[in-house]
Amino acid sequence: MTLDPTHLTISEVRHLLDERELSARELLGLHLERIETADADVKAFLRLTTKTAADQAQAADRALRDGTAGPLAGIPMAVKDVLCVKGVETTAGSQILKGFKPPYTGTAVQRLFDAGAVMLGVTNCDEFAMGSSTENSGYFPTHNPWSLDRVPGGSSGGSAAAVAAGEATFSLGSDTGGSIRQPAALCGVIGMKPTYGRVSRYGLIAFASSLDQIGPFTRSVEDCALILQTMAGHDPLDSTCADRTNDVMRGLHDGVEKMRLGVPREYFEVEGMEPGVRLAIQKALNTLEAAGAELVDVSLPHTDYGLAAYYIIAPAECSSNLARFDGVRYGMSEQDAQNITEAYTKTRRKGFGAEVRRRVMLGTYALSSGYYDAYYLKAQKVRTLIKQDFDDAFASCDAIVSGTSPTVAFPIGSRTQDPLSMYLCDVLTLGGNLAGLPGISVPCGMSEGLPVGLQVLAPQWREDTALRVARAYELAADMRVEVALVD
Ligand code: GLN
Repeated sequence: MTLDPTHLTISEVRHLLDERELSARELLGLHLERIETADADVKAFLRLTTKTAADQAQAADRALRDGTAGPLAGIPMAVKDVLCVKGVETTAGSQILKGFKPPYTGTAVQRLFDAGAVMLGVTNCDEFAMGSSTENSGYFPTHNPWSLDRVPGGSSGGSAAAVAAGEATFSLGSDTGGSIRQPAALCGVIGMKPTYGRVSRYGLIAFASSLDQIGPFTRSVEDCALILQTMAGHDPLDSTCADRTNDVMRGLHDGVEKMRLGVPREYFEVEGMEPGVRLAIQKALNTLEAAGAELVDVSLPHTDYGLAAYYIIAPAECSSNLARFDGVRYGMSEQDAQNITEAYTKTRRKGFGAEVRRRVMLGTYALSSGYYDAYYLKAQKVRTLIKQDFDDAFASCDAIVSGTSPTVAFPIGSRTQDPLSMYLCDVLTLGGNLAGLPGISVPCGMSEGLPVGLQVLAPQWREDTALRVARAYELAADMRVEVALVD
């Protein structure tokens, strides 16, 4: 095992801090050094919050000395640029929000701060979380630490890359159609989307409110459970956040013996599935079987319609959510206009990138009178069918296992001219969002020298099941998240 603290899991770092082998300030210093060297190539961070980090690390050292330290005292984290942090520039990867400093901190981040986490900075993402490669960022693309000419996935590509490159011990992302699980898979780290309603969205810049969830990127399944547990739970500031007991760590180490794992045949026949990915997933399934799980065939018959339904519903919600960015209240404002309509148009044309404009137009069209029934309403009906597919499948299994992404990380620039090929990245993940299910991606080997991710989906509110299967896989495969880009 490597002794470089920037390569360790939270529980390993926790041990060093608790034993006083390292102070939180030293740990912060090591991460800032690592960022300085690695991030020149990776470009995971949009901005660093060095001053906040120094204050938080100092407070963590004090708490460690006093015996009042929270479970995350001194642990370095990176935060996706869609999560509001008081006084820290937060732009959703967009030029339109350049210079915007939120007046408050969102609930999920606040709970991590309260547990002692140290915020290193803000990570890059696709503009308003729309994309699968982080190339839609309004600032610059992020590079995959495993191969710098490849994408890290998206939209939370900066957060995934930061953990993969040893720049942060854990990070936060948001997942609307796959934006945590897919970059986790492409960067070889763990990433989880919780059940819709598990984590408060207060302070998350909304993309598609009925699909968005905040979740962690980590280097071990146990870390993932810990971060989720810390963020989760009722919040009066988000009416969709459920008042349920947070038992996500229950049975984490119980193994998969006698568990029934559903293998959806449609998820192995999707367009563009690479043979190397299929092989790695098949091996992972064999490992789970050898660990005592029973693999059962299940069917999700409406899989083919999921992508179409998602790409109506998500843009429809985005067209409504993004209406507030008009140059009056937030961020950038185009002053050179004759009247208010022209000011709106000019601000939005200049402030939004091409993909965001495409989605706003598609979504507005799908919601417009005369087309609403044909598109939006129809998509909602398909969403119900997809939810029913999962309900039916879970009648015969405890969790569903599949690949997370049909491909490994692709070369930067290879899909930017073809939005449909970019949308296909989400074909295995967006069903979980449409149905509101928890899902986790765990590294399961390599194909062409690049990481592959195994996805575990569980019934609503059964994060414990998804985590337990992931943990069993981690153990059985002797999987340890490696830090990339080490020279
Ligand atoms: N790639 C998908 C999209 O572009 C999902 C994004 C996300 O989960 N935020 O909509």
